[in-house]
Amino acid sequence: GIKCGIVGLPNVGKSTLFNALTAAEIPAENYPFCTIDPNVGVVQVPDPRLERIAEIVKPQKIIPTTMEFVDIAGLVAGASKGEGLGNQFLAHIRETDAIAMVVRCFEDDDVTHVAGKVEPLADIDTIGTELALADLDTVEKAMQRTQKVAKSGDKDARARLVILEKLQGHLAEGQPVRSLLLDEDETQAIRDYHLLTAKPLMYIANVDESGFEDNLLLEQVRSHAENESAEVVPVCAALEAEIAQLEPEEQSEFLADAGMDEPGLNRVIRAGYRLLGLETYFTAGEKEVRAWTVKAGSSAPKAAAVIHTDFEKGFIRAEVVSYEDFTACGGEQGAKDAGKWRLEGKDYIVQEGDIIHFRFNV
Ligand code: GDP
Repeated sequence: GIKCGIVGLPNVGKSTLFNALTAAEIPAENYPFCTIDPNVGVVQVPDPRLERIAEIVKPQKIIPTTMEFVDIAGLVAGASKGEGLGNQFLAHIRETDAIAMVVRCFEDDDVTHVAGKVEPLADIDTIGTELALADLDTVEKAMQRTQKVAKSGDKDARARLVILEKLQGHLAEGQPVRSLLLDEDETQAIRDYHLLTAKPLMYIANVDESGFEDNLLLEQVRSHAENESAEVVPVCAALEAEIAQLEPEEQSEFLADAGMDEPGLNRVIRAGYRLLGLETYFTAGEKEVRAWTVKAGSSAPKAAAVIHTDFEKGFIRAEVVSYEDFTACGGEQGAKDAGKWRLEGKDYIVQEGDIIHFRFNV
């Protein structure tokens, strides 16, 4: 599946956050895939639109969609040279599709900091350097292989070499591949190297309960992230871990007392979902109202395949209404009467929030 890796130096709160994320158990029937690794957490994506649709449709069940987070431990300075879990760590991160970097923005004398003091920008730099060095290694190995082929006059290899040289120069300066402007062909050409610093990145700033405002460390992370056009999600992992342990009723009470609308984890989950380039569409029947996940830009048959592969093969057409039109018109009949109920063919690109009914041959 598509997943977001949680990385960070030791003792920044990764496990605390990961455990909170995975505390809500997901009914197995909603996740009928292979055995999940203990480091992989399947997390429900909170979406208030589901409740709104359900108010209209009154289904027997409501089923949110899910996404995956992976807890990737073992990053220390020197990882690219094999320190700590070294290569193992890098292999795990290679398998993810996006990176959520947890940085410590809380002071606590009882929690040791690996570098001796709480300094998130230095931590970000340490991690960035390790990832860039690992990529530099990958790129230089690829250059050696490609040089041989290029010498024999292979045009593709020569073109690839030009791209690799560009990457090498950039990475050697400690810069991530994602900050390099690459065109479509270049992006395609380097895809198979699975470069770590090419993956989309966001920061999770782990703050104290009182650290959401007037927190110099958080502000530093924010301005750093702004330069990279990266998102920062501030969250108090320790508090989230507590909230996650509560029964649903206690949870609402606790949140109300703390002046929160929802657990901070919801912001982490939604940011991760966006970072992965995922979108949601809905099916709305009397049996169930359900959210489904597609890669942004997916065609209607591809979206149908998420429900069942046969749906893609036998795809005839999709009946589509936007969430806004569906709710504004009070449901299916209202949307039809208002002319908002559309028939779409196989080239239709699914839009965020579409409510879809697939027609297919079996
Ligand atoms: P990891 O090594 O990055 O996985 O870090 P852990 O999740 O194991 O956390 C390291 C220590 O920091 C633990 O003792 C946590 O209880 C503590 N910790 C985690 N998040 C917070 C937080 O938001 N505030 C405070 N004060 N302590 C935290």
